[in-house]
Amino acid sequence: MAKLTTLNALEILDSRGNPTLEVTATLDDGSVGVAGVPSGASTGTHEALELRDEDPKRYGGKGVRKAVANVTGPIATTLVGQDVRNQQTVDQRLIDLDGTENKSKLGANAILGTSLAIARANAKAAKQELWQYIASQYGFANAGKSFPIPMCNVINGGVHADSGLSFQEFMILPQHADFPERLRCAAEIFHTLAKVLKGKGFQTLVGDEGGYAPRLRSNEEPLQLIAAAIADAGYTLGTDVLLGMDAAASEFVKPDGTYPLALEEKGLSADQLTALYAEWHDTYHLASVEDGLAEDDWANWPAQTAALAAKGMWVVGDDLFVTNVQRLQKGIDAKVGNAILIKLNQIGTLSETISTIKLAQAHAYKVIISHRSGETCDTTIADLAIAVSADAIKTGSLSRGERMAKYNRLLAIWQSLHA
Ligand code: PGA
Ligand code: ZN
Repeated sequence: MAKLTTLNALEILDSRGNPTLEVTATLDDGSVGVAGVPSGASTGTHEALELRDEDPKRYGGKGVRKAVANVTGPIATTLVGQDVRNQQTVDQRLIDLDGTENKSKLGANAILGTSLAIARANAKAAKQELWQYIASQYGFANAGKSFPIPMCNVINGGVHADSGLSFQEFMILPQHADFPERLRCAAEIFHTLAKVLKGKGFQTLVGDEGGYAPRLRSNEEPLQLIAAAIADAGYTLGTDVLLGMDAAASEFVKPDGTYPLALEEKGLSADQLTALYAEWHDTYHLASVEDGLAEDDWANWPAQTAALAAKGMWVVGDDLFVTNVQRLQKGIDAKVGNAILIKLNQIGTLSETISTIKLAQAHAYKVIISHRSGETCDTTIADLAIAVSADAIKTGSLSRGERMAKYNRLLAIWQSLHA
């Protein structure tokens, strides 16, 4: 038997210094699993609820003592003493105990911390790496056979930085066959980009996800600077490296449905925005655009999808799909998007996350496993990417320890498979 003997939770601080949860699960064979819960800033409206105390006297209302109490109280009462070897059963019990559509009773942070801590303890008990455990629990026969493309966010904008950029993320996508070489390529370009920025008199301080956050003059300038850094680093844009963006358009859409670009002082229609991405594909090898339109702009998503997919681009839904099978199914039915961002805390359990990944893969949507802008040093997403053979992983730039922890975990898994 693998019975859960204790379940503990702690209020810790994330990479932005905001409270989040660390959950520890112990089994009766002594196996211990610890999980840290991430937290977003450009949070989609349709995400599961992140429970915060709303007590203005602590952390500006962002404390998570209620979520901690939910883990050590009702959740522990339900699960301690139970056989927790079947992860789907554990997650279903959590879903049933909460009983709400968006996990607002117990909090998706409390539920996810529990789900992942138990998964980690189970992996230990089974003497498996976490990625092997996930693959065996959910039947991913090809686990470990492919490594994700790292989508490295080297210039931060939007709500992740005060750079003034409307678009949130400018990413490099190294295309080398070997994962360690992809990472080396990205790191070399990242460091070269610092030289390019300094040479033009821009600062090289970093934003929430470890990318530079210079005060630029236009939303196109990041692409020009990154293209220059790629060339200076000795790589070829279009073959060695492709570019990606997360527009995070839900953050700057206006109620009238227009998309203002602050630096350019102009408002674009959805069609004009689509045309801009298409132009940047032709000019800068922009290969992937995430949340290119707002999360509920269903009227314009089909046209954007058709136009960009015709160019071979990834049309990625993050706030649009929120790792939710219903929202993804709606997208599939409406021919919206051809790729999905996967964030465990958008939905709240490992099993629901896997269901969304399976639906995406069944419909040939690209799967991109993602961090949040607020992170801990938890490396679950690295293992998840390997378990499900994800096409890509988004875990920030080539700086900040909480981002590097995921890349370094991928290097360790790589070495264990290629030694
Ligand atoms: P978030 O941003 O974690 O702040 O939501 C990440 C993203 O939008 O992809
Ligand atoms: Zn996003």
